[in-house]
Amino acid sequence: MPYANFPTQALADAGLNRQHVFNLADLPAAILAPLGDLNDFRQLILLGHGGRHLWQCVQASGITSEHPIDDYTVSTVNHLFGPILPAGSYRIVYPWDVPIGLQSLGKLAGWHHPTPFMVGIDSEFGSWSAYRAAIIAASDFCPSEAVDRGNPCAACLDKPCISACPAEALAGGQFSLEKCSVYRLQPDSPCAHGCLARQACSVGAEHRYETAQIAHSYSRSLGMLRSSTRLAIS
Ligand code: SF4
Ligand code: SF4
Repeated sequence: MPYANFPTQALADAGLNRQHVFNLADLPAAILAPLGDLNDFRQLILLGHGGRHLWQCVQASGITSEHPIDDYTVSTVNHLFGPILPAGSYRIVYPWDVPIGLQSLGKLAGWHHPTPFMVGIDSEFGSWSAYRAAIIAASDFCPSEAVDRGNPCAACLDKPCISACPAEALAGGQFSLEKCSVYRLQPDSPCAHGCLARQACSVGAEHRYETAQIAHSYSRSLGMLRSSTRLAIS
């Protein structure tokens, strides 16, 4: 499969504007272990989005399912890779299929740097970026070079994200999942449908998600938080 066939522009046009091709042989065993039998595959393709375009594409697609971004992403991957990879020669392992170390892959791709609020950051997109798909394939695309734009937190002396957290969940430079969760679960919590710390960071502000996308993402995580809390006390 020649490199020219990798659908770089078509993916970007569809909102999946972060793309990295790994050779499976170059990946650590800990990342590969959850993926099962890899004998039929040679590469792993990591896709992400940065900025607002993906959400606009999802809205334009008319998909109104419970998980519209994931459903749109899977549909787009099949639409773009189906015609250029032989049937059965690729498998979408994220979303839905297996737990995979997305942040570990993101670090290898140069995309991921930690923030005090535990969402990855880079100097272009700020924290307004996310992993959207991981695909294992019997492909021979040209493997990607890491693109590492550095960690903007290193030069951010005031760290306004820390003081913006009303739960002091970032105090002392250590993220407290418990403090964050308790605060988000309070009635009428201002963090129910968005993270004030994340919104206080000015890096990549021009890529900040639309309000509707922020509300969608955080409503989903709040629902999972409520479910896990119910399970823990049942
Ligand atoms: S406000 Fe500063 S420390 Fe916080 S995420 Fe943004 S760059 Fe990093
Ligand atoms: S969601 Fe709210 S409580 Fe949790 S880290 Fe963000 S600002 Fe703090």
